Amino acid sequence: VEDRAVAACPTSMTQDRKTAHPGTRIHTYPDESSRSAQFYRRANNSIPDGVSRSMALIHPHPIYVASGNGAWVEDVDGHHYLDANNNFTSIILGHADPVVNAAVTERLGKGTAFAMGTEAEIELAELLVERVPSIERIRFCNSGTEAVMGAIKAARAFTGRPMIAKVEGAYHGTYDHAETSLGSSPGTWGNDDAPVSVAYAAGTPRSVTEEVAVLPFNNAAASRSILDRCGDQLAAVLIDTLPSRVGLPDVDVEFLETVFTTARSLGALVIMDEVISLRLGLGGNQGRLGLQPDLTSLGKIIGGGFPVGATGGRADIMDVFASIDGQRAAVPTAGTFSANPVTMVAGFACMNQLTEASFARLEEIGNGIRHGCREVFADHAHDWQITGKGSLFRLHPHRRSIHSYREARLTDGETRVMAELQRRLLERSVYFSNYGLGCMNLATTDADITHFVEAVADSLKTLD
Ligand code: PMP
Repeated sequence: VEDRAVAACPTSMTQDRKTAHPGTRIHTYPDESSRSAQFYRRANNSIPDGVSRSMALIHPHPIYVASGNGAWVEDVDGHHYLDANNNFTSIILGHADPVVNAAVTERLGKGTAFAMGTEAEIELAELLVERVPSIERIRFCNSGTEAVMGAIKAARAFTGRPMIAKVEGAYHGTYDHAETSLGSSPGTWGNDDAPVSVAYAAGTPRSVTEEVAVLPFNNAAASRSILDRCGDQLAAVLIDTLPSRVGLPDVDVEFLETVFTTARSLGALVIMDEVISLRLGLGGNQGRLGLQPDLTSLGKIIGGGFPVGATGGRADIMDVFASIDGQRAAVPTAGTFSANPVTMVAGFACMNQLTEASFARLEEIGNGIRHGCREVFADHAHDWQITGKGSLFRLHPHRRSIHSYREARLTDGETRVMAELQRRLLERSVYFSNYGLGCMNLATTDADITHFVEAVADSLKTLD
C-alpha cells in the first residue's frame, strides 16, 4: 500500500469553514478485514443487501460512514473521502454546517415531532415561494418521491384526467407511474420516436404503464406527436430539465418549448421535477431557463440534510390539497412526519445561507471539475467525456454524443467500467456514485478539485 500525502485542504473559500483533513493515502478496496466489510456481513442478517437503499450498495462490500465535515467524509475504518456524491445531491453547504447544526440543536431541546403546524414550516414555505416565482403555494412531505407523487395526483385531480407523460430513462423517485421506463433497454424500448412504456419494478400492474406516455428527451417533433396522441386524457407532463439518468445532457430549447406549448394546448399541466436541479440557482433551473411550470416537485437541499420533499405551484392548482368550506380536500395528504420541525429549521438554516454568490461558486467548482476532467480525457487513450451544469456532473466511459437516454444508457461493459471506477476512486479518497453522477458542495476548495481530477486521472490508468 503506497502512502501518498495529498495537500491538506485550506479553509473553505466561501464560508470561512475549516475543512482541513488529516491527509489522504491510497488504501486497498475491497478489504475483507475492514470494519465496513464486517458491518456488511453483520447487516446482511437483518437488512437485505446490508443497506436500506440500493445506491448505497457497492460490491463486494459497501462503505459505512462515521462522519462528515465540509467537503469530506470519514468512514468507520478512518479512511477519508472527498465527497463527490453529497448524498445524491442533497448536501449543498457542506457536511456538519455549523449554522444548520445550531438551528437543529436548538430545535432538539424543544421537541421534534408534533401533530401541529410550526412557524418553521411557514418560514421555509415563505422562503421558497419568494425564490421560485412559479411556486405560489407549497406543501411539505418527506421525500422527492412523495413530492412527485403529490404533483401527479394534484394534476390528475385538477384536470380530471388519468395520464401523465414523462421522459424515457428519467428518474423521479419510486412512485409507480413516475418510474415507468426508468430502466428501458434495447430489447424493450421500441422505436426512437415512440418509446414503449416499460414497467420498472416487477409486479407493476399493466394499468400503470398504460397511463404513462414516454417521451424521447430533446426530440421535439416526436414528443409533440406522442403528447397529441394522449389528447384530452393527458393530465400533465413531468419533466426534469437536467435529468441525471439521461446523462445530464444540455436541454434543447425547442424541445422545452414544444413540451410546454403542446401540454398547454391540450389543457394539460407541466410539472417540473426540481428535486435535484434546484441546486442550479436561487430560483432553480426554471429560474435559469426562464420557465414557468404549473407545479414543481422539490426535495434534497431544501431539507438542509434531513429527509424532505415538497410540492408547490399555482395557487389555484394547489387548492386541490385544501379542505375548502370544510369539505375533504380533493387530494387528501397526510404524512406523520410531513413538515417535521427538525427538517424545517434545518432546511431554512441551509436555504437562507444561499445567495447568488453561492451559486456562482458552485458553478466555478463544477467548471473546475469539468475542465480538469476534459484535460485528463484528452490525454487518455480511451474514450471518456463529462457533461453537467453547476455543481452537477456526469462522467461517461464513451464518446457517443448525448442528447437522450438511449445514447447515455450504459452498456453492460460500460456499467462494469463505471463500477470499477467507483472502486478505484474509493482507494484514492474520493466517494463517487457507481454510474458516473457527481456532485460537489460549497465547502469544496480548489485543492479538492485538483484532488478529484488527479484521482480520476490515476484511476483511469489502472483501468487501462
Ligand atoms: N426526482 C429526482 C429528479 C431525483 O433525482 C430523485 C432522487 N434522486 C427523486 C425525485 C426522488 O427523491 P427521494 O429520493 O427523496 O425520494
